[in-house]
Amino acid sequence: MAIERVSVIGAGTMGNGIVQTFAQAGVPVTMIDVARAPLDRGLGAIDKNLTRGVERGRLSREDADRARGLIATDTDLAAAAGSGLVVEAVFERADVKEDLFRRLDAACPPETILASNTSSISITQLAAATARPDRVIGMHFFNPVPMMGLVEIVRGLDTGDATFAAVRDLAAAIGKTPIAVNDYPGFVSNRVLMPMINEAVFCLMEGVADREAIDGVMKLGMNHPMGPLALADLIGLDVCYDILRVLHRDLGDDKYRPCPLLRKLVLAGKLGRKSGEGFYPY
Ligand code: NAD
Repeated sequence: MAIERVSVIGAGTMGNGIVQTFAQAGVPVTMIDVARAPLDRGLGAIDKNLTRGVERGRLSREDADRARGLIATDTDLAAAAGSGLVVEAVFERADVKEDLFRRLDAACPPETILASNTSSISITQLAAATARPDRVIGMHFFNPVPMMGLVEIVRGLDTGDATFAAVRDLAAAIGKTPIAVNDYPGFVSNRVLMPMINEAVFCLMEGVADREAIDGVMKLGMNHPMGPLALADLIGLDVCYDILRVLHRDLGDDKYRPCPLLRKLVLAGKLGRKSGEGFYPY
């Protein structure tokens, strides 16, 4: 099953990174969002990234121009119909994603594979919104997409072997390392990462150590490139809180309960880098 064209729904942080990655690998790609403004912001981010890549000698001007020439944009979901694979990267809300999968199922021919970049929503649940659960799969990229090597390939309950093989092979063809996991809350990445971040916040709340000490122990002692509190600021404290709530609710184990300090910071609007303050000021 060869995939010759891809559509990406959502031109935000992840969507535009996924679009750039496909285009740089020579795959024609259509970026779709609800309006011109997010598409223009997404294209702006891609242009800036490609230009930085040229300035730093990571790619030639010709390759950057060729990649840019492979990107189309649209505000109509029907534009996804000509793609072998559609990657959804819209807001992390189950109702929004379910509605989108229902509409994609109606808009695309039955052979089109529908993938989600969700961090925590069940792939099986999204697949159930379609009449093609065997052609629905998780394709979980990491931020910043053009730099990060991993794609967690998430198999829903009914994901077919041919779908899995096509998506795994495509991920490898665009220079990523696909790792297969099954559909359980948080997959592997967030199931392991979020409890670590949460425990670091408990350490801070209980006064086990200050933020620099907690991050310092994990950087110097565990060889992590970034401490858990600084990483939470980068991911977004609201995103961490939401994922922990999904883990807590869906796995039913109190070990995933979000730390009250994390909740308090989110309620105060201190969301990390994006709001100018989280565990650290920016
Ligand atoms: P974002 O808020 O930056 O972008 C979301 C985009 O989706 C926006 O441009 C919005 O206009 C668009 N959108 C919303 N509803 C739409 C619809 N119905 N049709 C078309 N476009 C629509 O979000 P993001 O950070 O890029 O996250 C996107 C997805 O990727 C989420 O599921 C998130 O959990 C996942 N994810 C995020 C990260 C991360 O570090 N940010 C990492 C891995 C996975």
